[in-house]
Amino acid sequence: MENELKMKSRQQPKKEQEKSENKSSHSILHTHSGEVGDNFANSLNEVYVIDTIDLNFVCLNKRAITKSGYSIEEASLLTPIHILPQMNDEQFRLLVSPLVDKLIPKIVIEALLQRRDGTQSNVEIQIQLTQFMGQECLELTILDTSEHKHSIYELERYKFATDNTTDAVYWVREDSSFFYVNNSACKMLGYSREQLLSMGVVDIDPKYPMDVWKKHWSNMKQKRFMSLETKHRTASGEFRFASMEVHFYEYYDEEFIVGTARDITDAKYTQMALQKTQAALDTATDVILWLQTDGKIIYVNDIAHNRLDYTRDEILEMNVADITPDIESAELFKSEIWPSLEAQKGMVFQFTFQRKDGSTFPAEMTTHLIEFSEEKFACSFVRDLTEINQAHLKLKELHELNQTMIELLSVTDGVWDWKVDTGEVWYAPGWRKMLGYAGDDIKGIPNTLEAFDSRIHPDDIKGVWATVQESFDSITGVSQEVNDKKLAEKHKESQEHHQSKITSIIKPFEHEFRLRTKDKSYIWVRARGMPRFDSAGNPVRLVGSTNDITEAKKSREAIEESEERFKQLANLNTPCWITEIDSNCTWLNQQWIDYTGQTLEEQLGFGWLDAVHPDDVDQTKTIYLEAVQNQQNFELEYRLRRYDGHYRVFRARGSVSRDRKGYFNGFTGFSIDIHDQREAQLALEREKEALAVSNKDLQEFAYVASHDLQEPLRKIMAFSELVKEESGEQLAEESQKYLETVIESAKRLKQLVSDLLTFSRISSRGKEFAPVNAKKCLDYALNNLEFAIQENDAQITSDELPVVLVDANQLTMLFQNLVSNAIKYRSDEKVKIHIGVHSINSVHKFYVQDNGIGIEPQYSKKIFEIFQRLHGRYACGGGTGIGLAICKRIIERFGGDIWMESEIGKGTTFYFTINND
Ligand code: ADP
Repeated sequence: MENELKMKSRQQPKKEQEKSENKSSHSILHTHSGEVGDNFANSLNEVYVIDTIDLNFVCLNKRAITKSGYSIEEASLLTPIHILPQMNDEQFRLLVSPLVDKLIPKIVIEALLQRRDGTQSNVEIQIQLTQFMGQECLELTILDTSEHKHSIYELERYKFATDNTTDAVYWVREDSSFFYVNNSACKMLGYSREQLLSMGVVDIDPKYPMDVWKKHWSNMKQKRFMSLETKHRTASGEFRFASMEVHFYEYYDEEFIVGTARDITDAKYTQMALQKTQAALDTATDVILWLQTDGKIIYVNDIAHNRLDYTRDEILEMNVADITPDIESAELFKSEIWPSLEAQKGMVFQFTFQRKDGSTFPAEMTTHLIEFSEEKFACSFVRDLTEINQAHLKLKELHELNQTMIELLSVTDGVWDWKVDTGEVWYAPGWRKMLGYAGDDIKGIPNTLEAFDSRIHPDDIKGVWATVQESFDSITGVSQEVNDKKLAEKHKESQEHHQSKITSIIKPFEHEFRLRTKDKSYIWVRARGMPRFDSAGNPVRLVGSTNDITEAKKSREAIEESEERFKQLANLNTPCWITEIDSNCTWLNQQWIDYTGQTLEEQLGFGWLDAVHPDDVDQTKTIYLEAVQNQQNFELEYRLRRYDGHYRVFRARGSVSRDRKGYFNGFTGFSIDIHDQREAQLALEREKEALAVSNKDLQEFAYVASHDLQEPLRKIMAFSELVKEESGEQLAEESQKYLETVIESAKRLKQLVSDLLTFSRISSRGKEFAPVNAKKCLDYALNNLEFAIQENDAQITSDELPVVLVDANQLTMLFQNLVSNAIKYRSDEKVKIHIGVHSINSVHKFYVQDNGIGIEPQYSKKIFEIFQRLHGRYACGGGTGIGLAICKRIIERFGGDIWMESEIGKGTTFYFTINND
C-alpha cells in the first residue's frame, strides 16, 4: 500500500475498501502482488486514474508521478487536458464515452503527452474502465514506445535479478510453454535453459497434462494468485517436490503465469521419514517408552496398550517403576539406573513387567540415552520374552533333532551337497563309508567333484551327467513358459509363489549307476538330488543322497530272471505247475487247464488230484508228499484225465524251488504226455517177450531136433555102410547107386544137423568173454582148414591182429567160416586170401578179403540168413547155407556188426567189427 498514491480519501468501510482493491487495475493489482509485481508495475507503465464524472485525477502510480513532473497535490487538480494538450475535456469525454457506456472494453489512442515542464512526446495511451475506491474510474496507461524499450530493459534487469535468486522462477505462456526460466529452475530440473525454453509445464509436471493445464490457466486467470505444492520431473527422471507461488500476469497483449518454486524435496522426505518413524514407533511390536530422568513416562507407543493392558493415557501418568517391580521406586531409577545409563549411553536390562491385572511377563528392556531440545531422555524398547523364550526352547529341541537327523543321515545315507557355482562338494561320512572309506577320510575321498566323477563306472559316466543336465534344464522350460506373455499375465503371482511353482515343476535328478569302491570293485548305487536355482534360473546347488542298491539290484535281477523262467514255463507247450512250501498248488498253466477242462480254481490246492486216475492217486500223493518232506526233486507217472474223460499217461517232474537265502519254497514242475511213447514201449516189450519165447522154443527145438536127429542118422549111416560092405557087390548096379545116394544124403544131413546144432548153441552154450589175441583164433581156424588150403593151394596172408575180449572158440569159428567160404567160392585164379584189421582205439574192424567169384550186390543181406545159398547145392563144394548165419549170430553176440562188399569176378571182402569199449 505504501507504493500507492491516494489523492482522495473516500471514507469507505475497511472491508469494502479491501474488496475494491482486490478488483483493482493493473497498478493496484501490481501493488498487491508482492515484490515482483511492484518492480514490474513501477518500472513499466505510467498509470493515471481519472474520475469519470468530473474527470479529476484520482490516482497516479509512482512512475506517472516521476514521469509527469507533477506533485501529488498538483496532480489532484489536473484534468486530461493538462496532459493531453490536443483535446479538451469535451473531446475526451466523447472519446471515452463508448468505454463509460461499456460498449467496448478498451481504447488505445495515439496522442501527444505533455509533461509539467511543457515537453511533449507521442505516446500510445490505453484507456479502460477500472474501479478505484468503489468508484468507476478511467485508467490511462501510457504506452510509450521508448518506455516499452525501457520496460524490456527492466525485464532483462528483472531477469538478471531473478536469475540469481535461489527459488526457481518460471514464466509460462497459455500453451504451457516456458517464456522464461531462471538459473535455479534449470538447476532444479537438470535441463539447460535452451532445453527448458523448448519445453512446457506439461513436460515437467505430471499433474498438468494439457487438458488440465488449460483448466488451470482459466482458473488462474480468474484467481490471479495461487500457492500450491507439486512435484517436477527432472531431466534424470527423478521427481523433486516443489512449493509454488503462482501469479497470473498480463503484459501488454500477452498473458503469463509466473511461478516461483522452492525445492522442498529434502524437507518432504524428512517429513515422510518422520511420519514413517512415527508410524513405526506406533506399530512396533516392542513397547517403546520415553522416560525422564526420574523414570516418568512421557511417551508410549500404541502397542503398550496390548502388552500392559493400561491405556496410553494411563501409562502417560505413570512412572516406569509402576510397571516394573524390578525397579522398586522412582527414586531408585533416578539415583541408580539413570546415572549408569548416562555413563554408558545405553543399557540392556532383563526386567519383569507387570500388567494392569497384576500378571507379569519377562522382558528385555533396551534403553538408549537421547538428547532432545537440550533435555535428556531414556528411550526404552521393551520386548516380551515369553514367546522368545518358548521359541528358544523349541529351537533347541529342533536343533537337537536336526543334529540327530544329521548324524543318522551321516551314518546311514550317502548324503552330498554340490555347490554348482563354486564347484565344491560336501560328502557325508555315510557316502565315504558306502565306498569302503572311513567317514572322515578326506584324503581318500576329498570334497571335490573329481572325487565323484572319477569313481563312476566308465560305461555309466555319460548317463549320469546327461541326467544331471536334464534336471538342470528342467528350469529352462519353466522360465520359457513364464516368459510367454500370456502365461506371464496369467501368473502375476508373488515371487515366492512363483518360486514354489518352479520347484514343483523341476525334475529331480535320479539315476542308477556304478561307483568304484576302495577295493576297486563296483557297487550299484541310486542317487537322488534336487537342484536349486538362482533367480536367473542358473543351477547353484544339487543336494541329494546316494544309496548302495547292489543287493537290491541283485535280487531284482534274480526276480527278473525267475520271472523270465516263469514266463518260459508258462510258454511251455505242456502242462506246468507251481506248488508252495505248504504243498498247495498255487499256479497251473493254460495247457493244464485246457487238457483237464477244469477251472483253475477247481485245481488249485490239491484239486488237481481229481484229474489223476483213481488207481494212481495214492501213489502220486505218496511220492509227492515224500518229496515235499525231503525237499527233493521227484519224478512220477500217472494217468491224467483229459477233458473228454480219456486218461493219458503223463510223466511229472518236480524241481525244488528255493528263495534267495536258499530255503525250500515248493516245487515248479511240468507233466509230459508220454502216453504214445509208453504204449509203443509196451508193445515193443510185449513183442520182445514173445520173440524171446519163440526164439527160446526155436533154439530148444533146433537143439533137441539136431541132437535127437543125430542118433537115427548115425544108425542110417552105420547100417548103410554095413550093407555096402557086406553085400554091396551082390546088389544090382542100380541098387548100388541108390545105396550110395542114401549114404551121401545121410552125410549131408549129418553136416546139416551138426551145423544147426552149432548155430543153436551160439547163444545158449556160448562161453564167457575173455581177452584173446585174434591172431591165435585165426591160426586155429587155418589149422582146421589145412586140408582145404593145401588142396586149393591157397595163399593166405594176415596183418598183426589185436587182442580182443570175446568167446575165443566162436571167434575161431567166425574166421573158419569166412576163410572156408573164401576158398570154397574161388575163381580159376590162384586163391589169395588176406585177413586184416583197422583199429581205432578199442574198436576193431576186421576183414577177410578173397579174389573169388564174388557175390551180386542184391544178395548182400540175404546171404546172412539161415539156409540161404546163392550157388547150387553141389557147386563150389556145396554147403548147408548156415555158415554166414552162424557168423552173424556170433558177431551179434559180440555186440558188433557184419557186412560184405563184393564185385563179381573180382572177389569179396567180409567185414566185421568188435567193439571192446
Ligand atoms: P554154404 O554152406 O552154402 O557155404 P554159407 O552160409 O556159408 O553157406 O554161404 C551162403 C552162400 O553165400 C553160399 O552158398 C555162397 O553162394 C555164398 N558165399 C559165401 N561166401 C562166399 C565167397 N567168399 N565168395 C562167393 N560166394 C560166397
